Amino acid sequence: ATPTALLAATGRGAELGVVVRGPEVLESLRRVDTVLLDKTGTLTTGRMELTGITAAPGEDATDLLRLAGAVEHGSEHPIARAVTAAARQRCGEDLPPVTGFAAGAGVGVRGSVEGRTVRVVRPDAARGALDALRDALADAESQGRTAAVVELDGRPVAVLTLGDTVRSGSWRAVRQLRGLGLEPVLLTGDRAGPAHAVAAELGITAVHADVSPERKAEVVAELRAAGRTVAMVGDGVNDAVALASADLGIAVASGSDAAIGAAGLTLVRGDIDALVVAMRLARRTSATIR
Ligand code: ADP
Ligand code: MG
Repeated sequence: ATPTALLAATGRGAELGVVVRGPEVLESLRRVDTVLLDKTGTLTTGRMELTGITAAPGEDATDLLRLAGAVEHGSEHPIARAVTAAARQRCGEDLPPVTGFAAGAGVGVRGSVEGRTVRVVRPDAARGALDALRDALADAESQGRTAAVVELDGRPVAVLTLGDTVRSGSWRAVRQLRGLGLEPVLLTGDRAGPAHAVAAELGITAVHADVSPERKAEVVAELRAAGRTVAMVGDGVNDAVALASADLGIAVASGSDAAIGAAGLTLVRGDIDALVVAMRLARRTSATIR
């Protein structure tokens, strides 16, 4: 492929809603046979909404939401945005200040609020006994909802459930990827219930759920070792390592700076539809040059 032809194609890509880091990206795109897709924020809008809060007996659900919302204010995760928005709606715009904030990619957040240690984390990262919250967690799982556990001073006190919607373009994009002979694989840090619900909706059969950020990169490495040429599409801080280790990392523009920084290609409008357009463009470009 001549640099001139590739650069011309690169300019066309920008018009179509993809930005590539360099002309070599189109070459990688042409060779890809496996596309790993993150769920939250990539296949789905990532505009999560709080759908429920279940507090342990004797706890005040609204007050726990206020504390959780305050700590989540420091995170850019879709779950965090949803929890903070719900807390503001129900408890007023001014959430209490947080000290000692820390976020763990793919795990959750922690911080001190009003003298208490608050954690909002994935259910299997909760530290104390879940007891009274088990039913709420089981319900969330069976409904395909994402759940987070609120902990107060090391004690699990509430379950937050969140819902998310599949992007309108994801349907067509998954079907068209198959049409191009590519295998879509869902790769998510979320649990099996929500992961399989989205996969079933989109007709994706290969699903890896409960995958930590490090494990995402391992899945990429394993597929590459098996001879696959892998593109990984993601939006989050939790996807950055996998994006950097794929043959081609693809970021959703609405995602985090870490994801965009680690990617060779960015989907400007956010819909993975544009990826299919870029694939076709890459193939056409090489056909023109041959
Ligand atoms: P995905 O791979 O689908 O984008 P993530 O790896 O970002 O999902 O998150 C995995 C899980 O970690 C979430 O389903 C949630 O349970 C938990 N989690 C991550 N960030 C947060 C947060 N800020 N607040 C609460 N839970 C979180
Ligand atoms: Mg994500």
